[in-house]
Amino acid sequence: MTIRRFLQPHSRNELTAALAEMTADSKVIAGGTDLMLEIRDRDPEIPVLVSLCKVPELKGICVTETAAGQELHIGAMECHADIAASETVRKYASALAESCDHVGSRQVRNRGTIGGSLGNASVAGDMLPVLYLFHASLAVTGPDGTDRMIPVEELPAGIGRTSLAFNEIIKEIVIPVHPERSSCFVKLGGREEVTIAEISLSLSWEMRDGKIAAVEGVMGAVDRVPAVLTEADGILGQGTVGTEECERLFGCLSERIAVIRKNRKRPPKLRIREGEKEFKERAVRGVVYDAVGKMLAKAGMTGPAGA
Ligand SMILES: Cc1cc2nc3c(=O)[nH]c(=O)nc-3n(C[C@H](O)[C@H](O)[C@H](O)COP(=O)(O)OP(=O)(O)OC[C@H]3O[C@@H](n4cnc5c(N)ncnc54)[C@H](O)[C@@H]3O)c2cc1C
Repeated sequence: MTIRRFLQPHSRNELTAALAEMTADSKVIAGGTDLMLEIRDRDPEIPVLVSLCKVPELKGICVTETAAGQELHIGAMECHADIAASETVRKYASALAESCDHVGSRQVRNRGTIGGSLGNASVAGDMLPVLYLFHASLAVTGPDGTDRMIPVEELPAGIGRTSLAFNEIIKEIVIPVHPERSSCFVKLGGREEVTIAEISLSLSWEMRDGKIAAVEGVMGAVDRVPAVLTEADGILGQGTVGTEECERLFGCLSERIAVIRKNRKRPPKLRIREGEKEFKERAVRGVVYDAVGKMLAKAGMTGPAGA
């Protein structure tokens, strides 16, 4: 590993100056849970490495009032464990708290940050789909010291790539607060713990006249960008939620995954057997039942028996 210069800013002004020193192959480091693996495996030469760890302005979780309503602000350097434990996040964006609670191991949750998750831009990452669900925006800052806001949908720019310039970072995540809405997150991985998502499903909804309504959903880890489920409300938000609705949603999601698989330009990196190719198309059934079961439990209702 060759790091020519290491900069550790301690304030917003020092951060701006450090970002101005960066060149195209330079890097920022947050918790290092992804970047250190990349450095170990690829042994790149890094002209400038900027640590974000000591910049207080990149930390904090709070709710602010704006003319448009309330907003939940989460600093990019907040780690998964602190987001999962935050009463404020649990209250206003519980799917985000739940997804952070299921990231990797305790060690990864204590070191890994939400900004690093987004900067890593992995298709299997858990943060991006949930932030799509909440229509989040990102405050991005660069070497001129000013912030610009982008919708989270503008961040991904291909596998492992973001639309940010080499000397820009995510400063904070901003989520519009809708106190009347609830949410949940489930994921399916290769094992029970410390598992990368094969499929994730996030749902949000509100209660109207004692019934689940205005359902939104996002499926993660099945495509290059999270799949927004425009069909979710037509199936789950029409007054009755039972086995029939779960099976209909399963059918839609399975079909979407099949289309993504068939349209894939390159074969998957893993050498998988013929019978395993359609794994996600079948496995999404259990994910649907888990997510709907969680939604119904939060709404104080009983759900279908399961897949
Ligand atoms: C064993 C293990 C299990 C894991 N399990 C999961 C899992 O279940 N779910 C999941 O989603 N992820 C998982 N991950 C991935 C990883 O934990 C997350 O992506 C992590 O949160 C990255 O955060 P970090 O602070 O460590 O980022 P770093 O490793 O420091 O940085 C990652 C990348 O983001 C860039 N970056 C860092 N901060 C910013 C910023 N503020 N703005 C812009 N770019 C930035 C860096 O330059 C780098 O390219 C796992 C990783 C490991 C090692």
